[in-house]
Amino acid sequence: MPAAYLDLVTALRQGFPQPVSDRVHDAYFVFSFLRALDQLDGMKSVSPLLGKSVELDYDAARRSRVDDDPVTLEHVTQTLVEHLSGMFIWGHPRAQINVIPPPTIASIIGGLLPSIYNPNLVSEESSRQVAVAEVEVSSMTADLIGYDPTHSAGLFTFGGTGTLLYGVKLGLEKACPGTARHGIRERAVIFCSERAHYACLSVASWLGIGQENVIQIPCSPDNEMRTCLLETMAREVLKGGGKIAAIVATMGTTDHFGLDDLKSIHEIRDRLVDEFHLDYHPHIHGDAVIGWAWSVFNDYDFQTNPLGFRLRTVRALAGTERRIRQLPLADSVGIDFHKTGFTPYVSSLFLVKDSTDLELISRKQSDTPYLFHDGHYHPGRYTLETSRAGSAPMSALANLRLFGKNGLRALLGHVVSMAEVLREQLEGHAATTVVNRGNFGPVTLFRVYPDGVDTFGVTEREQQDVSYRDQLRLHNDYNRRIYQLVQADALQGEGVVISLTDCYRESDYGEPMVALKSYLLSPFAEEQYIDAVIESLWKARAQIASETTNIA
Ligand SMILES: *Cc1c(COP(=O)(O)O)cnc(C)c1O
Repeated sequence: MPAAYLDLVTALRQGFPQPVSDRVHDAYFVFSFLRALDQLDGMKSVSPLLGKSVELDYDAARRSRVDDDPVTLEHVTQTLVEHLSGMFIWGHPRAQINVIPPPTIASIIGGLLPSIYNPNLVSEESSRQVAVAEVEVSSMTADLIGYDPTHSAGLFTFGGTGTLLYGVKLGLEKACPGTARHGIRERAVIFCSERAHYACLSVASWLGIGQENVIQIPCSPDNEMRTCLLETMAREVLKGGGKIAAIVATMGTTDHFGLDDLKSIHEIRDRLVDEFHLDYHPHIHGDAVIGWAWSVFNDYDFQTNPLGFRLRTVRALAGTERRIRQLPLADSVGIDFHKTGFTPYVSSLFLVKDSTDLELISRKQSDTPYLFHDGHYHPGRYTLETSRAGSAPMSALANLRLFGKNGLRALLGHVVSMAEVLREQLEGHAATTVVNRGNFGPVTLFRVYPDGVDTFGVTEREQQDVSYRDQLRLHNDYNRRIYQLVQADALQGEGVVISLTDCYRESDYGEPMVALKSYLLSPFAEEQYIDAVIESLWKARAQIASETTNIA
């Protein structure tokens, strides 16, 4: 009579991919996955949701406990599939929600293969050619944005926030040498624009720089840093004896697709180095997690326009490229393939222009005795993480190969032309105003107004006129209500899911301004769904008008 545990082990062995080729078992593995996909497919409909949106029950979740005994694989996958019920389908043409792309099949497989064979990017011994993939993607992407791949280096990390952490960490070590060993002993600041991602604050907090030492430079109406103010404020810090850990140039802000003027920032940095005889170059980090993808247009011939984009789109793409082309001026750059590169989460690449910068954060050989015996590629010497999955570089590699430059150009060109159609329509109506005007990206921020509001003058009044505060608040509420109605319409499969940002900017007198947001990233977007957004807005306006008589 064998021990009971051996029966369990024998049964559980069926739950692992077989170590030695077993075609019958392979079929079971693939079929199990197929069944899960089939169940998910059954949850698709005209609405941009998988299945139904169910009330989230965290109380039940908290009561969850581990069972005594194993259950079958089929039972587990059924449970997992249920957890996807109510998810948005980001790639649905009726979804214009956020900077969340639908992943390609190639990138899904790129992520799946490492999750079967489990390479660990801590060293090449444990990841072999998957480590090579990380180097491959780093070089391909470096070349794409205009770095010299023979001097640059790259590594994948835990999100755009991680890329920013690496950038600022390098900068901190440059500005205050020895910080990694001794801790911070002097004031160091981070400059970024007021539209920069809150990741700047997280990084300041986690690195011990302190959130109060993040200096947010006011933006122009185009949502780009006012570089003259950067110069003034940087001078003040330097005069006071402070150090500059990093200047973060946001190349594609999250909500508005604002693009900082990296060239001016670079000139200011160099000017300050001379003027103050600094013994370090304040590190410039390009937070291009969203904007990087537009670098495929760096060598696109906008004149002959071989892909045949319409003129308005050509103008928009060129308008973005004009800033993205400056990326090589940054000392390091953050890139999210999981934003504008159509991969699954998390696939974030940190690129540094000069690979020797990584020595600033390298562990001594003696601190990592067990892991790195031989071989040549030892990312574990300088990465914050120890274990790193291979899925991030593999899914990025998948898409770079799948798309080529023209594929990515076509996809971005398509979503931008759809966004241009939307902007054109919104600008053409008296009741709607685009508030990230002069913007050329896939995101459109706009406000809707009730009848009787003069939309030609209203945004300026809302922005500047403090006596208009109550009106601004009413209009904020109005837009929130429009959002709710549009959302309800979309879930019926009639309208389009868009989103709402509670504060796309503050008014001059400190009041948050709400905006509706359309983020177009689906390759399945079509003009008819742009029309559907507009129609849904009119329906919502009419409904509010019938509910209230006198909101404006
Ligand atoms: C999304 C975003 C981040 C954070 O990136 P994650 O990948 O979500 O960690 C940082 N900066 C900008 C501009 C972003 O849009």
